[in-house]
Amino acid sequence: MWYRYLVNQWKMVNHKMDNLFDVIVVGSGVIGSSVAYHLSESKKHEVLLIDKGFPLSGTSGSTQAWVWVHSKTPSWYGELSMLSAELYPFLEKKIGDVEYKRTGGIAPFFNEAERESALRLAEKQAEVGIEIEVLNREEVLEKEPSLSPEIAGATFSKIDGNVNPFRLVELYVKAARKNGVHCSFYNPVNDIEKSGDIFQVKTQKGSFRSKKIVLAGGPWSKELGKMLGMDMPVKQVRGQILVTEPLQPFLKYTIGGIRQADNGEVLIGYSKEEVGYDRRSTLDVMQQTARMAIDFIPALSKANIVRCFSGIRVMPEDGFPILDEVPGMEGAYVIAMHSGITLSPLIGTLMTELLTEGETSINLSRFSLERFNGIQSR
Ligand SMILES: Cc1cc2nc3c(=O)[nH]c(=O)nc-3n(C[C@H](O)[C@H](O)[C@H](O)COP(=O)(O)OP(=O)(O)OC[C@H]3O[C@@H](n4cnc5c(N)ncnc54)[C@H](O)[C@@H]3O)c2cc1C
Repeated sequence: MWYRYLVNQWKMVNHKMDNLFDVIVVGSGVIGSSVAYHLSESKKHEVLLIDKGFPLSGTSGSTQAWVWVHSKTPSWYGELSMLSAELYPFLEKKIGDVEYKRTGGIAPFFNEAERESALRLAEKQAEVGIEIEVLNREEVLEKEPSLSPEIAGATFSKIDGNVNPFRLVELYVKAARKNGVHCSFYNPVNDIEKSGDIFQVKTQKGSFRSKKIVLAGGPWSKELGKMLGMDMPVKQVRGQILVTEPLQPFLKYTIGGIRQADNGEVLIGYSKEEVGYDRRSTLDVMQQTARMAIDFIPALSKANIVRCFSGIRVMPEDGFPILDEVPGMEGAYVIAMHSGITLSPLIGTLMTELLTEGETSINLSRFSLERFNGIQSR
């Protein structure tokens, strides 16, 4: 036992002296911190998690945080989201209470033509095991009486819910640290080089070396990709959110675009704008968002808005996740996706399988870089 302790101590010191890690994860948003945590569970890897800010300084700290499944299409994408949502209860057993609530989700529609597509959605999603009910007006209002009587109906599924993103990321990082992951925050990565089999990660606080590297830079994925000589096929898409004063609990379900948090605040938002890294809130979008909220839930016209914020989604060019090894650069992996809150438990699991076993329990070809033309590394 003493011998093992001494060997471990020697390993730690030795790694610190030569700054060599098995895996360096760049970016400690929900995706990078999930990867670091899941990797740490096996205790097989010496892992370093680096962030230029703190774990919630990116998109994961400015999100709606639905764990949303039922309207995700095509159905293979819905299935991926469902598998991840199914992991949440177990994740909570392991890392602690992330305030995950499977509330059930309602996506209202306002005319009969939309009912047709709702029925088609229900049929397609049933093929992969996502149960959706298509409700008429009375049925929706019985479930969620605050919704507008103007709606024609809604799709409903029990699988949808939401989570507290702050607790989620904090607890991923805490559990990863407990399992031995090293963290270096407030430390931008400025360049990455590969010599032989080893990556050199040059940061503001010095150089680190690793056998494998995972880039999970969220909206900054393009900049990080350039360090590996590749053009990451992602866009930045701003989303603006309004937050009401705390209200008595009145929303039971997670509604498409609207949810009530535990403290009573209602978070409202659905906007999508391609404006680069500009995180300002703008009056026109705030007004449209407020109008949308009142169309859905008329009583919100009496609520005070106390805060607004915006976040930048990292959006792969075709909208679907990227999780792949960089072509021509063995040991370098990139992960970028929208809906990272929903997908993080599954993505962390799959990335760990890939890094540890070289293969995954779900075929990742749909998430490859090859599907975009012209992605080349140097
Ligand atoms: C308004 C809005 C609403 C959303 N609603 C939902 C929702 O309801 N459900 C859902 O599932 N998803 C939602 N999303 C999407 C979800 O929030 C994101 O997919 C997720 O947060 C992305 O996590 P990430 O770890 O990839 O990125 P981030 O959280 O941005 O993390 C990336 C990290 O990389 C670091 N980094 C970047 N460059 C460097 C560098 N050079 N050196 C060191 N560190 C670096 C950054 O500092 C950052 O911390 C929403 C997004 C927005 C904007």
